[in-house]
Amino acid sequence: MKYIDEFRDGALARHLAGAIAREAEPTRHYSLMEFCGGHTHAISRYGIKDLLPPNVEMVHGPGCPVCVLPVGRIDSAIELASRPGLILATYADTMRVPASKGSSLLKAKARGADIRMVYSSADAIRIARDNPEREVVFFAIGFETTTPPTAVAILDAAALGLGNFSVFCNHVLTPAAIANILESPEVRDLGTVPLDGFIGPAHVSTVIGSQPYEYFAEEYGRPVVIAGFEPLDVMQAILMLVRQLNEGRAEVENEFTRAVTREGNGKAKALVAEVFELRRSFEWRGLGEVPYSALQIKEKYRRFDAEARYGLEYRSVADNKACECGAILRGVKKPIDCKVFGTVCTPENPIGSCMVSSEGACAAHYSYGRFKDVPVIAVAAP
Ligand code: SF4
Repeated sequence: MKYIDEFRDGALARHLAGAIAREAEPTRHYSLMEFCGGHTHAISRYGIKDLLPPNVEMVHGPGCPVCVLPVGRIDSAIELASRPGLILATYADTMRVPASKGSSLLKAKARGADIRMVYSSADAIRIARDNPEREVVFFAIGFETTTPPTAVAILDAAALGLGNFSVFCNHVLTPAAIANILESPEVRDLGTVPLDGFIGPAHVSTVIGSQPYEYFAEEYGRPVVIAGFEPLDVMQAILMLVRQLNEGRAEVENEFTRAVTREGNGKAKALVAEVFELRRSFEWRGLGEVPYSALQIKEKYRRFDAEARYGLEYRSVADNKACECGAILRGVKKPIDCKVFGTVCTPENPIGSCMVSSEGACAAHYSYGRFKDVPVIAVAAP
C-alpha cells in the first residue's frame, strides 16, 4: 500500500539501524522518550529496541489518551451513564478502563446502563438526533487530535438546536504533559529519568504544528523530533535525535514532513479556540494534577457541558495499589517492573489503564515483548 509499505522496508530499517549504531558514541548513554503510545506500539510491534545499540534507550511516555484518564473521571462517566434515561456515547477503548471498586463502563453496561460505543463524535450527534426524548452525553477523551471533532460536534449541536446533547470533556494537551515530566521531582532532583530528547507525536502535530515544542528545546535544552508511526519514521527520528545530541544541538526537527508544518492546521485550531478554553487544572493518571493541561467548554457553549448540566463534582480516587501505571507513564518504571504484569493483569483482565489500549505500554509489551522476559528453557529433542 502506498505510503505504508515504503515505511516498513526491512532493508532500509537495517540501514538506519547501522547508522544509529555507528553514530551513537559508545561512551555515552542516550535516553529518549517516545511521548506517544502510537510510537510505543510501533517500537514493540516491530522490535525496534532489538535493532538499537544498548546505550540507546527508549523510555515510554504518557501519550496514550486512555492510559492517562484518572479513575475519578471514569467514575464520573459511570455516574452519568447510570442516570435513568441517559445514553452515554464513548470510544470503545474507554469501556474497559478500570474504575474504582472493580467497576468499568463495560460492567456498568452489563448492569443495564445505556452505554454505546461510537467511532466518532458525529455518531454521538446522530444518536442524539435519533433519540430526541433521551439525554445523550458524549464522553470525549484524547489529545489535540480528537479535540477538533468534539468542537465540531458541539457546533453542530448548536446549529441543529439539539437540547438533549452534551459533552463530558476530558481533552488534554501534549505540551503541558511534556513540561510536567521535565519539571517533575524525579527528573529535576533525583535524576531518575535522565531524558535526553523526545520523539513528538505526528498526529497531534498535524493539528498544533511543531512550533509549541520549541519551548522545550529552548527552555530545557532537550531536542524534539516529530515523527510518524511507521517503523522507519521512528528509526529515522532516533537517528536525528542521536545526531542532535552528538552535535550539542537542542532543536525541534520534523521527520513527518509529509503532514506536519510549523503552524499546524489553522482551521482545526480555530474550531478548538471557538469552543474550548484552558482548564485551570486537570488530574492525569501518573502525573497527578497538572495546571493548564486540559480543556473545558467555554461559557458560550456551557449548555453543552455535561459537567455543568449534571453538576458533576470531581473526586480523585487512588489507583489500585498493585498497579505501577503512574510510574510507567512518567517513564520511571517499565511494564516488567510491575509484579502483576502478565499474571493478574492481562489485556483480558486489565488492572490498570496501561493494559487496556493497544497504545498502552503494558498492553504493547504484553502483545509483542513479554516472552523476552521469560528465561528460555532448553528442551531436549525427543
Ligand atoms: S501490568 Fe497492569 S497493573 Fe501493572 S502497571 Fe501495567 S496496567 Fe498497571
